[in-house]
Amino acid sequence: MEPPTTPPVDADARRAVRPVICYPTETLPEAPMALYAAARTRLRPVGEVLVPPREARCFRVPAGHFFRIRSVEGPQVGDLNLWNAGDLSERFYSGKTRALHGTHLSTGDRMWSSFPHLRPMATITQDTLGWYGFDAFGGSVHDVIGTRCDPYTHCLLSDGGQYHHCCHSNLTRALGAETGLPLREAEVHVHDVLNVFMCTGFTRDTGQYFMKASPVRPGDYLEFFAEIDLLGALSACPGGDCSAEHSSDAAACHPLLVEVLRPDPAALAGWTAPAPNGYDRSHGA
Ligand SMILES: [Zn+2]
Repeated sequence: MEPPTTPPVDADARRAVRPVICYPTETLPEAPMALYAAARTRLRPVGEVLVPPREARCFRVPAGHFFRIRSVEGPQVGDLNLWNAGDLSERFYSGKTRALHGTHLSTGDRMWSSFPHLRPMATITQDTLGWYGFDAFGGSVHDVIGTRCDPYTHCLLSDGGQYHHCCHSNLTRALGAETGLPLREAEVHVHDVLNVFMCTGFTRDTGQYFMKASPVRPGDYLEFFAEIDLLGALSACPGGDCSAEHSSDAAACHPLLVEVLRPDPAALAGWTAPAPNGYDRSHGA
């Protein structure tokens, strides 16, 4: 369809203007990756949680510990929520993380928390799918561009369909079970996710959000360093490897394993958890 607008005579010149990076990250406080690399050479497993297919489970990670989300049995995508374990109002901020680090996360990138905290909650310290990069379709792994599959969008798109094992509902039930909150209260704490192992992008011609089969294989993992005490929730998405559809029981689904690992405390000598954001919150008043 012809666009209902007339291009100016200098349209090509306007399109040719070079983009600038919105948030150059050179001035971000640098993650001490050498310290983390040294600490992760001697890790002791201290707990694990197996997330069943089409369900979610919560897990807790003390500050200064590592955790891994591991593919087991078969290709499976996971939807991750993170909260400050002591304050559910501080939670992962997918949109600002995307603005800072780009559409997909990998080693060295951080998961930032919501206002007014805006500090690193977790830093990615290993990504066995780091080899994937960006494919010819513009797709990559572990995105912060999707939100989470949810029953409301499903209802809109499927003429009133009711499906109860979308990641949004799985995360809601898991958080309710962990905290004792009624589901309606737990639900408001569920937020946009990190799409672990999911392969996604935007189509080059129409700019639409797309997914394709995850390249993850059993044994692959994404590893994080917990910067603060964390409560996490992970949903094994009903889309399975997200090669065809989600929000149904049609896809083959597999469990995901969350492992919590403790480094030798001596290896973290000098490390302190990041302080909340330094803005004075006067907002010019
Ligand atoms: Zn999902």
